[in-house]
Amino acid sequence: MWNEVKTNLSSAKVYLKEFLFFNAIFILLLFFIVENKIILITLIALILLFGLIFLNVVGYKRNRELKTIESVISGIRKNTINHPEEIKLKENLHSLQDEIQQMFEKERNDIEYLKRLERMRTEFLANVSHELRTPIFAIQGYIETLLDGAIDDEKVNKYFLDKANQHTINLSNLLNDLIDISMIESGEMRMSYRYFDINDYLSQIIQEMMPIAREKNIELVYHPAKEGLQLFGDKSRLKQVFINLITNAIKYTEQGKVEVLIVEESKYGKIIIRDTGIGIPQEDINRIFERFYRVDKARSRAVGGTGLGLAIVKHIVEAHNSKIEVKSELGVGSEFSFKLKK
Ligand code: ADP
Repeated sequence: MWNEVKTNLSSAKVYLKEFLFFNAIFILLLFFIVENKIILITLIALILLFGLIFLNVVGYKRNRELKTIESVISGIRKNTINHPEEIKLKENLHSLQDEIQQMFEKERNDIEYLKRLERMRTEFLANVSHELRTPIFAIQGYIETLLDGAIDDEKVNKYFLDKANQHTINLSNLLNDLIDISMIESGEMRMSYRYFDINDYLSQIIQEMMPIAREKNIELVYHPAKEGLQLFGDKSRLKQVFINLITNAIKYTEQGKVEVLIVEESKYGKIIIRDTGIGIPQEDINRIFERFYRVDKARSRAVGGTGLGLAIVKHIVEAHNSKIEVKSELGVGSEFSFKLKK
């Protein structure tokens, strides 16, 4: 009991100054009012006694509050609290209770986020290793076959070399895309926005891509916008967006055409890349922008895809405060579009 009183009083020490101040005022008043010494001393003793009892009660309450706070914090630390509603303090500590509940929620969300990042990192590493292994194994296989004698067989030696060469191209595409994506995701991609003439810019890109379309017998058409239309963006980053989107449109189209057109709106120019290709199943549309997601892995690899092209496109378009949209119908074609500021 005495120990408890000691703890209470020591806890109430923080109010000692106020306690002494008010006691001193009372005692001073008594000096003026009470003349009888015995009554005066008795009253002073009573004031001090009640003061101490009061301090003891205050200390007791303070201790209980601190204990509840301590047990809440230790519950959070030891993970025995699973829900913010389990954090309960006394009524007079409601605002502190709210703060702790919010801190708990934020900490839980941060941990969830970090765990998700960690899962994504592991998944990404597994994907990268797998993607690297595929062309390296293939190149190794072709070279071994050639060394084992196929090099002297005129019927197959060039075919094997061609195949090995194709896989080295895939490998180099993959490495380039990996460098781009890691630069973009680590925030190292510096953007440099300017107004530029969209017709000049897109006509040049289309010219550069014409041979790839011709090789597949696909018509590549650019429908120019109003003469002199200026759009705002980073030309060199956007070039990668257009190359990836137009290459995909050609890659995933067996016959027909790929069109690039601009729809002018009041504040934006909407750029559309449309093809008459194989289309994308509805259930895959929301996933094609994920790293390494392909609708048909074998087909993508066969046409030199890395599975990173659209992830890069999405990052760059979003860096322009825009959003990439897709419409597609299986067997009919696909349409990718995004807006740039006028
Ligand atoms: P990839 O290197 O495999 O082409 P992308 O990230 O560029 O990777 O595209 C992801 C997937 O989206 C592709 O594997 C393909 O299945 C699908 N895709 C992208 N563009 C088109 C398109 N124009 N038509 C049909 N499918 C497409």
